[in-house]
Amino acid sequence: MASQTNGKRWKIIMPPTPHHAREGCVHIIGAGVAGMAAALALREAGRRVVVHEAARFAGGRARSFHDPHLNCTIDNGTHLILAANHAVLSLLDRLGTRTHLKPPPDPAFFLFDRRNGCHITLRIEKVLGPFLRLRWQGSPSSCTPRVNLADYLKSTAALFTTDPQKLAARLEKTGPLWRLFWEPFIIAVLNTPPNQADPAPLRRVLLETFGRGADALLPLLSDVGLSGLLADPFCERAQRDEHFTLRLSHPVRAIETDGHRINALIFDDETIRLNSRDCVILAVPPWTARRLLPAIPAPDRFSPIVNVHFRLSEEHTTRHNAAIIHVTPAKAGVSHHKRMNKWPEIPAFAGMTMHTSCRVSEERAEHVAQRFFGVIDGTAQWIFRRGPLISVTVSAAEALQAQRREDIARACWRDVAAVFNLAEDPMPPVRVIAEKRATFLCTPAQSARRPPADVGFSNLFLAGDWVNTGLPATLESAARSGETAARLAIARTAC
Ligand SMILES: Cc1cc2nc3c(=O)[nH]c(=O)nc-3n(C[C@H](O)[C@H](O)[C@H](O)COP(=O)(O)OP(=O)(O)OC[C@H]3O[C@@H](n4cnc5c(N)ncnc54)[C@H](O)[C@@H]3O)c2cc1C
Repeated sequence: MASQTNGKRWKIIMPPTPHHAREGCVHIIGAGVAGMAAALALREAGRRVVVHEAARFAGGRARSFHDPHLNCTIDNGTHLILAANHAVLSLLDRLGTRTHLKPPPDPAFFLFDRRNGCHITLRIEKVLGPFLRLRWQGSPSSCTPRVNLADYLKSTAALFTTDPQKLAARLEKTGPLWRLFWEPFIIAVLNTPPNQADPAPLRRVLLETFGRGADALLPLLSDVGLSGLLADPFCERAQRDEHFTLRLSHPVRAIETDGHRINALIFDDETIRLNSRDCVILAVPPWTARRLLPAIPAPDRFSPIVNVHFRLSEEHTTRHNAAIIHVTPAKAGVSHHKRMNKWPEIPAFAGMTMHTSCRVSEERAEHVAQRFFGVIDGTAQWIFRRGPLISVTVSAAEALQAQRREDIARACWRDVAAVFNLAEDPMPPVRVIAEKRATFLCTPAQSARRPPADVGFSNLFLAGDWVNTGLPATLESAARSGETAARLAIARTAC
């Protein structure tokens, strides 16, 4: 069986199906992040594992593919990982790919306000013990938002509610914090409009990020695509390990159960009967889980994320870099090489001559050199840059659903051009990807439908970002649920 991810072809070797073996075996259904995390934790504990994946690639909602139009590998959706995401990081450790994640050279959040063209930097600094200071700085300095202590106190008080509408209404009264922080933060983290967002997972994220100190808040950016980070090393690992079978293009069509235990997994070409030592981890999305086991509660409303990928031409890249190295006369004395070394990840710097005109200030240049931006009041919400690829993310993108792809691309490009000081025409080659069911809609009603990992079957455990981890549907929730399901399966299976 062969599969293709990230342009590579994988040959999946299938040893004799382990259900014939005398030892117990854990069947994992789904090779998304939750299934991968479960599989690797189980192998570490010495359990035999068979992963059945419906698609011809691993990775699920976090994957890359070669786009012939852009002629490069892109992610279905750009994923942000924070230093606080310890389950994701330990998955990457197990896969040996953590080194691909790098904190930005300048550990801060860079925002661009489309209303007034201001660049705003948010630095989160340690003060004493668990206390943090949020330092806002505008460029030009007249853009610096006036946030006072009362706004922070009002924010903290607002979080103690279970009602999304009250939460949004109270946070809206926190002055500039609402526009610059709360609104984009809630939409990004919960993929849900703030006036519908469940406050409980929001509080949990805040505790796990702000509650753990400034370092936990660092965004970690990958120098490879999602499949290079996750699916490809996962497939390689399965190929090397004789007790680890990965069966791609192998969807489970039905599950046979007597209501207490799973008796058999039914595929197109075979039925696997489970012996008394076998376990199943169901790591599929909620809509599939409901189809396979209708008695299990699961979220049933979803929220879209739209990603727009632009491939910059050489001309655009050059203009971008030119925008970065325009300097103010006061700083022009700094040596060219010293300045270039500040942004070593931008390859086109090599051999470029420094412009002597003074279009962009030093602070502004630092902004444009970043790889990750928030856009306030634009169509684009977040912009990620990797080499010539600029990727825009729009979460809770219900409003974009009805729009033509060309119009979405054009609106996002206008935001990108404004941030990077590029011409609006011509728009570079673009790919728009709308994931309609990117995550479940994180409302209190949908949260109440999240089941625990153990739903009362003796040999079945659930995993997936939608299982009740207390976190919103994210990579971290998926990885943590996989680890939990693996722990439960380890306790129930013999080696
Ligand atoms: C566009 C986009 C952007 C996102 N951005 C972020 C972000 O910035 N940060 C973040 O933390 N999270 C982000 N997420 C969310 C994150 O991708 C998901 O939370 C995570 O990937 C879910 O993993 P999972 O394993 O739970 O589910 P899935 O990835 O859905 O995996 C389930 C697997 O089960 C397989 N399957 C389905 N049916 C069957 C069957 N019958 N038999 C066998 N296999 C089956 C599927 O093919 C799939 O591979 C984003 C999601 C999207 C779509």
